[in-house]
Amino acid sequence: MNKKHRPGQAVPKNGVYQAVHDSHRLMHQVTLLEGSLFPECRRCRGGVRFEWLRACAATHTGVGHYAILQEYRREPMQAKKQSA
Ligand SMILES: [Zn+2]
Repeated sequence: MNKKHRPGQAVPKNGVYQAVHDSHRLMHQVTLLEGSLFPECRRCRGGVRFEWLRACAATHTGVGHYAILQEYRREPMQAKKQSA
């Protein structure tokens, strides 16, 4: 049973992951490195899920190969900072 991962979670192991975007019906694969964070989608942000596919001798991340993905960022829209 493959576990699904969400953007912002730590990548558990090097490998190729299947990225599934429910909201716009896109599926593709991405290579990720252990210890990095799952990227988010430019369109559906945190709506993408990652599923482990297979191991690979990762020497680089494939994130840059997929324009739809971007590095996960902590919510920049937390305008309501507690300035007390
Ligand atoms: Zn998406």
